[in-house]
Amino acid sequence: MSLKGAPDLLDRLKARGVHRVLVQAPEGLKRELPAFARALKERGIAVTLSGDPCYGACDLARPDVAGGELLLHLGHAPLGGPPEWAIFDPWHLDFPLEVLDNALPLLHDPAIGLLTTVQHTHLIDAVVTYLSAHGVRATAVPGGDRAPLRGQILGCSYAAARGCGAREVLFIGTGVFHPLGVRLATGLEVVALDPFTGVCTRVDASRLLRQRFAIIERARGAASFGILVSEKTGQRREALVKYLMSLTDLAVPVRVNEVTPDLLLNLGFSAYVNTACPRLAYDDQVRFFAPVLSPPEFEILCGVRKWEDYAIDEIT
Ligand code: SF4
Repeated sequence: MSLKGAPDLLDRLKARGVHRVLVQAPEGLKRELPAFARALKERGIAVTLSGDPCYGACDLARPDVAGGELLLHLGHAPLGGPPEWAIFDPWHLDFPLEVLDNALPLLHDPAIGLLTTVQHTHLIDAVVTYLSAHGVRATAVPGGDRAPLRGQILGCSYAAARGCGAREVLFIGTGVFHPLGVRLATGLEVVALDPFTGVCTRVDASRLLRQRFAIIERARGAASFGILVSEKTGQRREALVKYLMSLTDLAVPVRVNEVTPDLLLNLGFSAYVNTACPRLAYDDQVRFFAPVLSPPEFEILCGVRKWEDYAIDEIT
């Protein structure tokens, strides 16, 4: 039985009277799926797994084409109201609250904002209480339609950071992208705590900014720009594409599902502008042979935004 990340799931499926599900999960959870599928089968629920890459709730598989009555999407919360044909389970991950002790010496302000990713949002109240007992008043607010849970941020939305009303925030989660994104999106002081390793650091975005400056300079003089337009429902930004197209005659929109180095190589543009998942341009640049700019970076290149007004790309 492996429903540890989603203990109340069976009750929710039973309440919907569901007998056949299509299960979709991000890459980090896929290895849990064989045992998860077996556990559901033992309880009379037929399972088909979606094997395609999945990075967020912006990209939902359709259960009807796979013979399922319902999509069971693991590892994310819905972006806005979930569709009738899907239920979500964020796959909560616990951590010992004592790990917060590592952050206390780095926090300068007595009142801070609290941010995390969906897997840890169930611990927000416990974290607030723990910090309060150690003299730190933490505030966590919802991030609006795209990230509706208290304190929740996404790689495409930092609204919960902007709304927290603090000058300093504590981000609890793994990886460097989210805390860097908060820093660039808000200018707030950011302390990042990995709740599993206990490593805690104050975030400095200057190296990323230098890299992005170099990429913009590499794209200067490009003979052609491919504007990448995602086919994924939660990543499609048609109005933005139209605006970007208006900035130069050298751009052509390119509709894509997955953005891969081979795809960009074969398309043959000198540079690209990414309107799909914002993380692509930042996280995956090392894999691409050509510069891949974010929309605000393309504005800088086209002279309609100043470098001093650099902004990280978000989907609103
Ligand atoms: S657009 Fe990217 S960051 Fe936003 S939800 Fe989708 S995969 Fe995550």
